[in-house]
Amino acid sequence: MTHRKIFKNVCDFIDGELDEATCEEIKKHIASCPKCRIYVDTVRKTIVFYQANDAPKRLPSAAKKRLHAAIALKFKEKRAPSAAKGRGEK
Ligand SMILES: [Zn+2]
Repeated sequence: MTHRKIFKNVCDFIDGELDEATCEEIKKHIASCPKCRIYVDTVRKTIVFYQANDAPKRLPSAAKKRLHAAIALKFKEKRAPSAAKGRGEK
């Protein structure tokens, strides 16, 4: 088992979609390799983070409103110089 193989298989490993033999190899490797342990841990946290943020239910409606307002503001700021001339877009 090499570091490279860990990097390549980390997503399947975390998803539990790896075959048992490879899974065991990875477990054995990260048990003795702190670098890969940190890497796998980081990827796992990132996946959990994205899954949490993909669930709209978790976002309170007040926060959602604020977020939309902030995005709208940014959008306006960006378009203001040229769009303000009234080209009648929607
Ligand atoms: Zn390693």
